[in-house]
Amino acid sequence: MPQFDVIVIGCGAMGSAALLHLAKARRRVLGIDRFQPPHRFGSTHGETRITRAAIGEGVDYTPLAQRSHAIWRELERETGAHLFEQCGCLFIPSQHGGEVHGVTSAQFFANIETAARLHGVDGETLPSERLRADYPAFATAPGDRAFLDREGGYLLVEDCVRTELAVAARHGATLLTGRCVTSFRRAAGDLTVTMDDGSTASATTLIVTTGPWITELIAPLQRRVNVTRQVLYWFELLSNPQRFGPNAPVFIWDVAGREHAASDIYGFPWLGSPDNGVKIAQEVLTGETDPDHVTREVTADEIAATYETYVRPFVPDLGPRCLRSEVCLYTNAPGGRFIIDRDPGDANVIYASACSGHGFKHSPAVGEALAAMALGQPPRVDLSGFTLDRLAAP
Ligand SMILES: Cc1cc2nc3c(=O)[nH]c(=O)nc-3n(C[C@H](O)[C@H](O)[C@H](O)COP(=O)(O)OP(=O)(O)OC[C@H]3O[C@@H](n4cnc5c(N)ncnc54)[C@H](O)[C@@H]3O)c2cc1C
Repeated sequence: MPQFDVIVIGCGAMGSAALLHLAKARRRVLGIDRFQPPHRFGSTHGETRITRAAIGEGVDYTPLAQRSHAIWRELERETGAHLFEQCGCLFIPSQHGGEVHGVTSAQFFANIETAARLHGVDGETLPSERLRADYPAFATAPGDRAFLDREGGYLLVEDCVRTELAVAARHGATLLTGRCVTSFRRAAGDLTVTMDDGSTASATTLIVTTGPWITELIAPLQRRVNVTRQVLYWFELLSNPQRFGPNAPVFIWDVAGREHAASDIYGFPWLGSPDNGVKIAQEVLTGETDPDHVTREVTADEIAATYETYVRPFVPDLGPRCLRSEVCLYTNAPGGRFIIDRDPGDANVIYASACSGHGFKHSPAVGEALAAMALGQPPRVDLSGFTLDRLAAP
């Protein structure tokens, strides 16, 4: 039976980053994935992810984001790949209540300003007149203001995972794809995983980063997290293409309470040719699903309803024709927090459910921290705020 120092189960955003750091630390490491990452069945696909440094979900996320930005840049230098476009990120809070990733819109904005001050993030609050004059793509209302995070931008999500896995392999990591881990148990001092084809592998430590499938292997998370279906849309660009050009920022705009909108929207600059459209999405935090039964089709009615309620009133340069769509999954914890901890039954089983709709930008630093935990070293970034017992009761 193969013997490793660490087995990483699930090689999406978090797992590929953990694998990379363990391989670079010259550990015998095995990554196992039920598909061929990057793939379209979990939480890590759809071309791009927003990144930012002044983090509204909580000031304690900023060191993770800033460390992650440094790691992405290091990976780019090492490989020549283009992964991170620092075009800035605009956050526009709601004037009518609203909530983003489990935090009220007003608190989200206050956290951003605090994080920027405490961690020296390059950014500024834009008053209403500046917002309207500098960003006419957005049909903002009088009184709307924004925070422009100049350290933010977007990450090319599939390329990031592909690059991390390639560099991990170059440093000696073994990757086993198309195999699903069905169980693990402690035997003869080691942890042994069993896969769906009956094969086994063993290691001193396991890292479980199975994203929306996390509760299948980590029982304490059952009833603590839920999975929701999210749809990404690429709508045609009808007018004013210069407003969506390569220097345009990514944005998160809490439009809750305006027109018929009930949640925030987010979007990206226009990438590539007109045929690509502009990627925009609405966050949906209701309606539980699971990755094996989720509806992966996006209907014409769904597209029309999203366009009418969340796109046309706010980004009027976009037209109703949807050029592409993707279904993706959030794994939500109470308060939109991450959960990164050791299994209470076995301290050598470490898991990360780091999503809640905002995990990708932090994944290199989370992976680095998971690797440190597996090696018995203190994580470079403090993760004490993400333990299971810090969560509110379900
Ligand atoms: C629509 C959408 C938009 C988002 N936007 C942003 C954004 O703008 N910015 C941001 O920072 N974050 C964003 N996020 C969140 C971010 O993408 C996630 O936090 C992150 O991708 C989660 O990664 P993960 O490694 O936990 O899960 P995944 O990447 O899904 O990885 C889990 C892996 O485990 C494998 N697996 C599962 N079970 C097993 C098993 N039993 N055996 C072997 N392998 C297994 C799966 O095949 C999969 O590859 C978004 C998410 C979605 C869905």
